[in-house]
Amino acid sequence: MTNKYSRRGFIKDISFGAAALTPALSYLAACSSRKPKDKLGVALVGLGDYSTSQLGPALQKTKNCYLAGVVTGTPAKEKIWADRYKIPHKNIYNYQNFDNICSNPDIDIVYVVLPVSMHKEFTIRAAKAGKHVISEKPMAISVTDCEEMISACRKAGKKLSIGYRLRFDPYNKEMMRLGQQKVYGKPVQIDCANGFVYKDDPNAWRLKKAMAGGGGLMDMGIYCIQSARYVTGEEPAYVTAREEKTKPELFSEVDETVHFDLEFPSGCLANGTSSFNMELSSLKVKAEKGEYGLAHAYWYSGEEGNTPAGQMSFLPVNQQVLQMDDFAECVMRNKNTIVPGEMGLEDIRIVEAIYRSIASGKRERI
Ligand code: NAD
Repeated sequence: MTNKYSRRGFIKDISFGAAALTPALSYLAACSSRKPKDKLGVALVGLGDYSTSQLGPALQKTKNCYLAGVVTGTPAKEKIWADRYKIPHKNIYNYQNFDNICSNPDIDIVYVVLPVSMHKEFTIRAAKAGKHVISEKPMAISVTDCEEMISACRKAGKKLSIGYRLRFDPYNKEMMRLGQQKVYGKPVQIDCANGFVYKDDPNAWRLKKAMAGGGGLMDMGIYCIQSARYVTGEEPAYVTAREEKTKPELFSEVDETVHFDLEFPSGCLANGTSSFNMELSSLKVKAEKGEYGLAHAYWYSGEEGNTPAGQMSFLPVNQQVLQMDDFAECVMRNKNTIVPGEMGLEDIRIVEAIYRSIASGKRERI
């Protein structure tokens, strides 16, 4: 095989002299890299912002798994990732030859970090190739797609997890404990809000309904839905929602700001706000005997928590490291993940009910 990482290319490279030695040596190191015995190999599919800024670096710190391969549609990224993380050429795939990953023993887990509409295709292809799968949030653009992903993984006997990093964050875990164990009595009202001011490319996939499935609600509101579910430990039964649009040109296909009220069986009401046009990240709970909450609730770090007993204080963690290590451990020990496909599906079921309520202007059953 002749390409820029081939052995022939390497021999030619070193003939250029000392200047060529550093890349050549790094290539040699990459080629000779062996799979660590005690770690599972992860291949990231899609090398955009989240893979580049969070998952690639986090996989250098994980103890149960490591970055073994990548799958990208952009040839220029192949060399960048191969050099940065010493990934052997045989572990680099594109979207066309991805299915060949089935015969690669270095890769145990495929992590799908693509636009939402592509999660289904790559999850199913990965499962058929015999790999365990992590799909980023939101799981897919429809309940039907989520069901197909779950069924493909089940059929292949492979585990499926969703990238819900906050389930591993100590501040959010404390919110779960306080709510579910009713430390201050039953939660009565939850206020949760998540959003940012969208300033990126107006043609990007996040603003295309077919690729994103929706706007601020799918991208940011999903965290609010998750937190209302994990604070109560319940599933909402009804929703009433409305949408606000101040920039109809930019958000011509997807929602800008959505307000939704989720009704839980215990009587707790969660007021959620998602937005592509406001900086929001908070989670507040009114319980029978006190109030508690988080500022910067959905950030990668830097949360601040308050309870009637005082400020929360936890040592900083890397949420992505904990999330990926936990999934790798589930695979190694054949345990159930705490963030399975079924959890992602339930969130999309709620999202669909929210969109139904916006369209009907009525309270909708979930
Ligand atoms: P991004 O736009 O930065 O990257 C998307 C990647 O998909 C790029 O590498 C792009 O080249 C590739 N791609 C392949 N086909 C494409 C197509 N037809 N159109 C557009 N891009 C295409 O996006 P991102 O921010 O990295 O998000 C990717 C996924 O990760 C999304 O599901 C997002 O919700 C999720 N995400 C999760 C978190 C989290 O905290 N868990 C944070 C950010 C993003």
